[in-house]
Parts: sequence; C-alpha cells; structure tokens
Amino acid sequence: MAPRPLIAGNWKMHMTLVEGAKLVDALGMALAEATPKPACDIAVCPPFTLLAPLSEACQKYGFGLGGQDCHAEAKGAFTGDVAAGMLADIGCTHVIVGHSERRSLHEESNADVKAKAAAALAARLTAILCVGETESERDSGKAEEIVVAQLLASLPDGATAANMVVAYEPVWAIGTGRTPTVAQVAAMHKAIRAALDGKVGDPAGMRILYGGSVKPGNAKELLSVENVDGALVGGASLVSADFWAICSTC
Ligand code: PGA
Repeated sequence: MAPRPLIAGNWKMHMTLVEGAKLVDALGMALAEATPKPACDIAVCPPFTLLAPLSEACQKYGFGLGGQDCHAEAKGAFTGDVAAGMLADIGCTHVIVGHSERRSLHEESNADVKAKAAAALAARLTAILCVGETESERDSGKAEEIVVAQLLASLPDGATAANMVVAYEPVWAIGTGRTPTVAQVAAMHKAIRAALDGKVGDPAGMRILYGGSVKPGNAKELLSVENVDGALVGGASLVSADFWAICSTC
C-alpha cells in the first residue's frame, strides 16, 4: 500500500507572527469544515521565530510543525544556530535538512546534511531530507545517478519510514514556475525508491515528496505519479487558499 501522503509547506524566510498565525488558523478552519477530509498529513515549516508561537495551534489542528534547518550538534558554542533537540523541545515534529538553498547558499555538503539528519533522528524529529539536481546536471542526462548519489551520501544511519521523508526537489524547478515532466518525476522517484532498498527501514513505506513549483493547478497531476507520496511546497504554501487547494487534491 502506498504511504499516506504528506503535504508540507516550506515558508522559507517569510511571514510575521500575525501573518503566520492567520495562515495556520485559516488552514485549521478549512480542515475542520472539509468533508471528506483530505487523505494526507499536513505540516508547516515556518521560520525559527514562529515555531514556538505556532506550536499550540499546530498541535490543536493536527498539523506537523517543522524547522527549516538544524545544527548537527546537540548544544555548544554555535552562535546563531539551533539544535534539533531545541526544535523538539518547543513542539516541532519535523525538520527540513539539506534544502538546496542551504546546500548552495550555506555550502552544506552531503556529509553536513547527513550529520544534521542524524541529529534530527536523535531528537526524535522526522527529517525531511532534500535532494535534487541542478539544471546542468539535468541536461547532462545523469540526473537520476546524481540525485541517488546525493541521497546515499546524505542518508543518516537508522533512517526508517517512521523517522525520515525524502523530498526530491530539482533545483531548477524551485521558485521558477517550471516543473519536470510527469515521466521525469516518475523516473526519479522510482530511482530513489530503488536506492532506498536495503538502506533504510521499510523502504516501500518511506514517503518521497516532490517539491519545486507545486501549485494548485499542477498538484493533482504531480501527486498522482507513482512513488510521489506528497509535496514540499514553497511559494504556494504562503497563501492559505493555495496550500489548502494542494492538500485537497489528496
Ligand atoms: P517552490 O519551493 O514551491 O516555491 O518552488 C519549493 C521548495 O523550495 O521547497
């Protein structure tokens, strides 16, 4: 049986406290009124400043709450950083690790991402481990090989379907309005599923999300692709009606 999809919103560096609280309440209201309820789990990943204040509402509505990054160490002299255990402490359930913006803008290597994912697991958070190829890597015809290598090098020990989610996000599709073809998504998710075999617990049950310009207009098509078990949504997660429309396709 295919895993229950997860629709996660990556708010990136957006939203004030008032805006974020309004957005979560609007989603909670939509969920309360929906019949039938969408057949997916829903999570939001706001910036660090909003995690604690939104924790109670997320718990009330049954939404997962995720950080967008964490440090690999449990504590120490790391000015500006936040430990995975600190996220768990304020009610987070998830944390994104290895997002392409962290990999490129903060020069995070696969080894860094692996250490962060391990820290997330140790803190009993679900790691949303992001991988994806650049446009030139896609053009090289080796996108699947490259993404699988990135995944295997970023994979922490002890990952299972219960504590980790993979998010395939082609770098060239993030925030651009461009998406891979259905055939490209299907081939990549199949390759990721095959690569997980023997490397994680319950590989068939591990959710593999697609991310990169997911919108209400393309969500149904992308989410119906085999081995696509949800979405990591950036821009469209900032507008409650759009994010809800994506959740509602499940
Ligand atoms: P996007 O971002 O939906 O705005 O393309 C996705 C992401 O970066 O997680």
